[in-house]
Amino acid sequence: MQISDKSSFDNISKNSQVNEWEISPRFDVKNPPKPELIDACVHCGFCLSTCPSYRVIGKETDSPRGRIYLMDGINEGDIPLSPAIAQHFDTCLGCLACVTTCPSGVQYDQLIEATRAQVERNYPRSLPEQVLRQFIFATFPYPNRLRVLLAPLLVYQKLGFQKLLRSLGWLEKYLPKQIAAMESILPALTPQAFQDSLPELIPAQGEKRYRVGMLLGCVQRIFLPEVNNATVRVLTANGCEVVIPKSQGCCGALTHHQGQESQTIALAKQTIDSFANLNLDALLINASGCGHTLKEYGHILQDDPEYAEKAKVFASKVKDVQEFLDQVGLTAKLHPLQEQTLAIAYQDACHMLHGQKISLEPRRLLRQIPNVQLRESVDASLCCGSAGIYNILQPEIGHELGQQKVTNLTDTGAELIASANVGCISQIRKHLDLQNRNTLLMHPMELLDYSIQGRKLSSYNASRSDSKRA
Ligand code: SF4
Ligand code: SF4
Repeated sequence: MQISDKSSFDNISKNSQVNEWEISPRFDVKNPPKPELIDACVHCGFCLSTCPSYRVIGKETDSPRGRIYLMDGINEGDIPLSPAIAQHFDTCLGCLACVTTCPSGVQYDQLIEATRAQVERNYPRSLPEQVLRQFIFATFPYPNRLRVLLAPLLVYQKLGFQKLLRSLGWLEKYLPKQIAAMESILPALTPQAFQDSLPELIPAQGEKRYRVGMLLGCVQRIFLPEVNNATVRVLTANGCEVVIPKSQGCCGALTHHQGQESQTIALAKQTIDSFANLNLDALLINASGCGHTLKEYGHILQDDPEYAEKAKVFASKVKDVQEFLDQVGLTAKLHPLQEQTLAIAYQDACHMLHGQKISLEPRRLLRQIPNVQLRESVDASLCCGSAGIYNILQPEIGHELGQQKVTNLTDTGAELIASANVGCISQIRKHLDLQNRNTLLMHPMELLDYSIQGRKLSSYNASRSDSKRA
């Protein structure tokens, strides 16, 4: 592989050889980033300006082209997998903007997926990093474990400790920055967070048009249960019978994006088994990060003799709920959310836009609501900095991107931001609050639900104010 300006990489290589060469691990033989995918990169640099980590850090080594060069160097044995190198893979948000931008069709998604798994297997992380990551992987994908932590968090919020500590700035001052970042995106907890309340079968209203399965998400069902409730109401109002198997857990998106292969495979198999033999027309999800991973099941389980075929069939039925509704058409009558024009800025989640190539469908749905006017923000395709658990693991970069995203969205003058991903919603809500913005933030399914029910936005505004006060 050749690169025109490689002085920074030569320095890495030389320094690494002097200090770390003998002691640093390398990639192992199990699925290293494929040389033929690496060689597809012609080093044109078109991807750099669309890469959020490059935009914040400003170094070639934290760009798609730079990371591809590092992968090649490690494959070739020219660069060690040292802490100095591994950090450049950790700073990648996995947003896939570079995949959309690349004129040569470089499959960076496959390259970073293989690299992350290599890093997890071969690079020894520091003890604090290991503890934090294992805590996240052992709790977030398991709603019942996460619920054990909710009671003290609810007390923390309801007795006013959260408000007090945040106002004093003690959390950032005294806690490790990753723990403070985790706390900063904690939404207001509601009683619904403590148990799944949706039944296993919810009939269609009126004539049944489709029978669909719905995934609840692991974090979403706890922190944004109202979005799942709204999604069910929208689907049933549009003639869908909704099936929600109790045995479903996490789809594995969170662990997949962090290179945790065996855990991802176990979670994917459990999800496939939960929805087996249900005679469904489609499998629907309302969170973009999960949707992208569910559509990848055929690839994730391709080497599993028992599940490879089942995974392909499963993935072929997965649709984002907006993609599905746009395709089958809304049949329920829509009412205005307010009497005057409502300006909405739709925020493209990366795994929706770059991962699933879905951008027109949500906009077409929202435009059907009377009096809605859509506004487009500057840098609409740039990541908000949430990126799964990135805003916890890389809080400074996540913070910078969150601030930029909220500034760009609110600069549109929109009264409301519509976002279709639980991670983005948490991140944008945090940064709206930090910037003292009153802009409303809702999932498109909540907007459609309100419109179908004939509810006005003013009632959402009131409930949001109540939860903020709590
Ligand atoms: S745009 Fe594609 S070919 Fe050009 S540097 Fe980026 S990854 Fe390589
Ligand atoms: S996935 Fe996103 S952060 Fe990572 S290299 Fe590509 S554009 Fe940059």
